[in-house]
Amino acid sequence: MEIPFLDLKRQFEEHKNEINSVVLEVLASGWYILGKECEKFELNFKNYLVGKDEGYVVGVNSGTDALRLSLIAAGVEVNSEVITVANTAIPTISAICSVGAKPVFCEVDEKTWLMDTNKLEELITEKTRAIIPVHLYGFCADMDIINEIAQKNDLKVIEDVAQATGAVYGSRKAGTIGDYGAFSFYPSKNLGACGDGGAIFVHNREQYDKLIKLRNYGQSSKYITEIENGINSRLDEIQAAILNSRIKYIDGWNLSKAKLAQRYINKFKSLKVPVQFQISYDEVIPQYHLFVIKLLKGDRDNLMRILEKQGVQTLIHYPVPLYDQNAFKKYKKCKLEVTENLTKNILSLPLNPYMTEIEVDYIVNIIAKSLNT
Ligand SMILES: *Cc1c(COP(=O)(O)O)cnc(C)c1O
Repeated sequence: MEIPFLDLKRQFEEHKNEINSVVLEVLASGWYILGKECEKFELNFKNYLVGKDEGYVVGVNSGTDALRLSLIAAGVEVNSEVITVANTAIPTISAICSVGAKPVFCEVDEKTWLMDTNKLEELITEKTRAIIPVHLYGFCADMDIINEIAQKNDLKVIEDVAQATGAVYGSRKAGTIGDYGAFSFYPSKNLGACGDGGAIFVHNREQYDKLIKLRNYGQSSKYITEIENGINSRLDEIQAAILNSRIKYIDGWNLSKAKLAQRYINKFKSLKVPVQFQISYDEVIPQYHLFVIKLLKGDRDNLMRILEKQGVQTLIHYPVPLYDQNAFKKYKKCKLEVTENLTKNILSLPLNPYMTEIEVDYIVNIIAKSLNT
């Protein structure tokens, strides 16, 4: 059986006619940047996140830029410090570095694999300006405590919600709980475009006005600017149109993935396979971006090869703590034991809305045979 890690072609095929027609409409309109599709998506996405009566969404070019512009808008200046985790995608850190700030790495919790709030306060210094919790794999970090610590220390909270569009924490969607929510519509994410895209959620008009300028050369209107560090980071009309047509499917996709993830978990448990799963906080409804297991015994890289030989493609998110990347080594203060243990033993298994239960069972059976001996 051949099971690719992800099958974006299949996702396109499902709503092919619809996508083709909205893309052609944009092409025929002759208006490609900052037009009605982007405006419509900003409203659609805001309504999806919080409903009609609150908040603002700004469409930008990518999740990386969503983080970067949030940092700039939050006033994170050169040489200040931003606390985040080391088991995340590279852009979480490169966004921090792109504004001249320094990443400070917080340990993660053994069960949730998310920012360990017991280790957070001790990292705060006079230079700290912001905290970036990462909602890894679609599971929400412990936002109530993070917000509380941030408020006490006068810090901004920027949620990296690139992997968790649709996840719920308490009564709110992820990305609407901190000061800024940075979303990605990279094709593989829960809500994916057919190219790059991102968005920022904010709570008040002042933040919104600033971000609207920052994403468009700093302009308040054509050829008028009061902001010196504006960039070019806009959600283009074609991507916005695709996202407008896809947003109605996201809950269905997330639900299918949740069912398949539960199938994985039940099957692993019934076969008593020595693997561990990510645990969510009680108040969280996760939206699986990835399905990740942690091996409690056996050799991870060997298991990957065995799966590969039998047609199953797997990946590792992420193979080294980011402070061990050449680019970020200078920010390493100490080893983070839980983080390192994860990087050595985790494995991401195929998960997409179109997988079948037969495929899930096939994968679990291979892993059981390899680890249960
Ligand atoms: C994908 C991702 C990003 C960056 O998003 P892009 O749209 O690719 O720039 C940032 N943080 C995390 C955790 C991600 O998974």
